[in-house]
Amino acid sequence: MKILTTIVLSLGLLTIQINAKEEANKKAMSIIKEMLEANTLYLKSQSQDEFKMVVEGQDPRITLVSCSDSRVQNSAIDSSPENDLFVIRNIGNQLISNEGSVAYGIKHLKTPILLIMGHSRCGAIKAAMSDYSAENSAIRKEVSTLALSIQNSCERGDPQKWIKNIVNNVHKQVEYSLQEYHNDVDKGTLMIVGAVFDFANDMKHGYGQFNVVNINGEDVEEKFDALKVNVKDKDKDMIQTASNSK
Ligand SMILES: [Zn+2]
Repeated sequence: MKILTTIVLSLGLLTIQINAKEEANKKAMSIIKEMLEANTLYLKSQSQDEFKMVVEGQDPRITLVSCSDSRVQNSAIDSSPENDLFVIRNIGNQLISNEGSVAYGIKHLKTPILLIMGHSRCGAIKAAMSDYSAENSAIRKEVSTLALSIQNSCERGDPQKWIKNIVNNVHKQVEYSLQEYHNDVDKGTLMIVGAVFDFANDMKHGYGQFNVVNINGEDVEEKFDALKVNVKDKDKDMIQTASNSK
């Protein structure tokens, strides 16, 4: 009787697993279908010449190290990122996770800018501020390198310090990059820029703002606030001119 009960339970469990897998596969296939449809629309908006222009090679201006977070997308900072952004993404926008890829952007593609871009509400930073010992070893490894960049700058584990740690991590990543690429900076062939994409308005400059906080190791957050005001004024002028000319 006991054996029969075990067999029935096992079969039940197996059926649930098979059903769950089928459901997951169905969902995945519908996502793939959406991607194919998006690609069809994309192709309609592109001419063959645009592809021919990039076939021979790439010529980006920016090596970008940003977080893998899906709320951070390049269109927020570049209206045509194709052939302009050489993108490296990982959790916590870290140099150490992809040193070879960053070096490729700077040494081979010779981008004049290395941009390290953090973002508000970064889960990797939050993890580094808390107990992440239950995570799998690969995640622990990447979070631990973040923790190293944070622990010297302010207290860990305090949620109030989240955005401060995010900004501090960007400063730290710029500092690490300078150690590696100071010769290029000294020669004037590279500028290392640290910024935070703030979709949550945690830095109080507005929702979705691209806040430049560091240039070649110098904290420039306040300077760039002033520049942003100027850009906004310029936009206002352009809008005014456009509406006058109608
Ligand atoms: Zn993040």
